[in-house]
Amino acid sequence: MPFVPAERLKFAEEFGRMSEPLVFFVAGKEVLMCGTEFPSVSHLRGILAGRTLLELGEMDGVPCFGVMAEAFPKELPEGVRPMMCRDVFASFPHDRSVALCRARILLFWLENHRFCGKCASRTVPAKTDIGLACPTCGARFFPQIAPAVIVLVTCGDRILLAHNRQFTNGMYGLAAGFVEAGESAEDAVVRELEEEVGIQVKALTYVRSQSWPFPNSLMLGFRAEYASGELCPDGKELDDAGWFSKETLPMIPPPGSIARSLIDEWLENQAS
Ligand SMILES: [Zn+2]
Repeated sequence: MPFVPAERLKFAEEFGRMSEPLVFFVAGKEVLMCGTEFPSVSHLRGILAGRTLLELGEMDGVPCFGVMAEAFPKELPEGVRPMMCRDVFASFPHDRSVALCRARILLFWLENHRFCGKCASRTVPAKTDIGLACPTCGARFFPQIAPAVIVLVTCGDRILLAHNRQFTNGMYGLAAGFVEAGESAEDAVVRELEEEVGIQVKALTYVRSQSWPFPNSLMLGFRAEYASGELCPDGKELDDAGWFSKETLPMIPPPGSIARSLIDEWLENQAS
């Protein structure tokens, strides 16, 4: 996992226009964009000095680097602007989303593994793979992904939507939660629904997954049908939950999330 001081990056005049490296500069849940593309090193030349970049690999033959900061510099180069990562997922080509997810997950992981968890020595990039190594005790660390489940539960022509206490707006989403140690993803769906809203489901079916780098989740999307139990939000994580038809939908998650795509697919089926 090579790290490169910004000063050692070559710039446009050396690379030629087509292969000038792109930079994924992330802070919080935002990333810097230049129009509809990630900025090149030339675009960011003024704000990369003194930073160490992570080599992420290539996209369409173009080398990519990542850098993470607590916040973006106050003065950004002309044409460069911060954008919410989830807006990139919603409106840019899939390969851009994949690259951004990879960048954000790796940068977050590095930020949190600067020291060995066993002996507290400073870690160094492993020589042979993507991991980090401890030069003192030999411990190895690899990028971590946290699997989580998310489920669209139907009951006749209605779906289960819940309001999470952390949502500051009136948005309602799908039931979701992390897979716990020892569980299968299916076990996690069943447990989350029982714990959070007190219901049991049947016909549980896996649909698809989506990388969700806030900070390092892999969302496993399911569909299920209501079987039994009385809907009762737990009051801790969820402060409200209900069954909604397509005519009575509250504010739902914006495009770009697996939650929204599961809801959109259900809406399409309702229409047909
Ligand atoms: Zn160690």
